[in-house]
Amino acid sequence: MTDTPVPLLEFRDLRKSYEATEAVAGVSLTIPQGEFVALVGASGSGKSTLLKTVNRLVEPTSGQVRFEDDNVESLPLAALRHKIGYVFQSVGLFPHMTVGENVAIGPRLVGERLSAERIGELLELVDLEPDMAARLPDELSGGQRQRVGVARALANEPQLLLMDEPFGALDPITRDALGDRVRALHAEFGLTTVMVTHDMAEALLLADRVLVMDAGTVVADETPHSLLAGAGGEIAQGLVAVPRAQADRLAELAR
Ligand code: ADP
Ligand code: MG
Repeated sequence: MTDTPVPLLEFRDLRKSYEATEAVAGVSLTIPQGEFVALVGASGSGKSTLLKTVNRLVEPTSGQVRFEDDNVESLPLAALRHKIGYVFQSVGLFPHMTVGENVAIGPRLVGERLSAERIGELLELVDLEPDMAARLPDELSGGQRQRVGVARALANEPQLLLMDEPFGALDPITRDALGDRVRALHAEFGLTTVMVTHDMAEALLLADRVLVMDAGTVVADETPHSLLAGAGGEIAQGLVAVPRAQADRLAELAR
């Protein structure tokens, strides 16, 4: 380990257009190894599109994404995706496969078979019982399915974890618990994590760094601390104002 952070990920003037829509309109930034980054912004601001250029689910119109200083387009797709865990916005478990088969799908794509023991370990990482491996996704709660999605993303022992609104559909208690679990796993495995969320409170509470997107560009790049101190500009402060006003009202009620 060195003290100097190694940039794991870099966007260089990245752009992606869909006909008239410029979904990503020139993003340049670096993400050092070990950082937990939240990508926040209104619906349609380009968060998912930006995230998907990293594992090449979206091909940029211009610019590039670099992973460990290689243009991702120059890397074999399977090798790239092997290093990246991805938690889908819609969970995306295969309904006809058991939980265990879902967790093992990433390694299987590169010809590796996970043992039942390893699948059990992965489930335990996200606080699920190993014997859940035999169930079908249908037989789980929404929170349990999201946990399986996280276990699946960790199965390849990735360097980078990408999550697209992973907790969006969960009740607040489950959401909080799973957020804390993911943050602990991030530390335990020395991951670099990029989490898309539309919830500024979640971003402030979990991340080391918050990127705010608006109309395809990153309009603020701040620590939670500096956002709470008023930095980041009007759009960022508009998002911070929501949880702050709620916290103030709760404090008022508790008096
Ligand atoms: P977010 O994740 O922040 O909600 P997206 O990245 O999904 O935003 O979308 C950004 C913009 O790009 C939106 O205007 C959306 O309609 C458009 N867009 C995203 N994906 C596609 C696609 N496959 N085809 C056409 N337009 C798209
Ligand atoms: Mg999205």
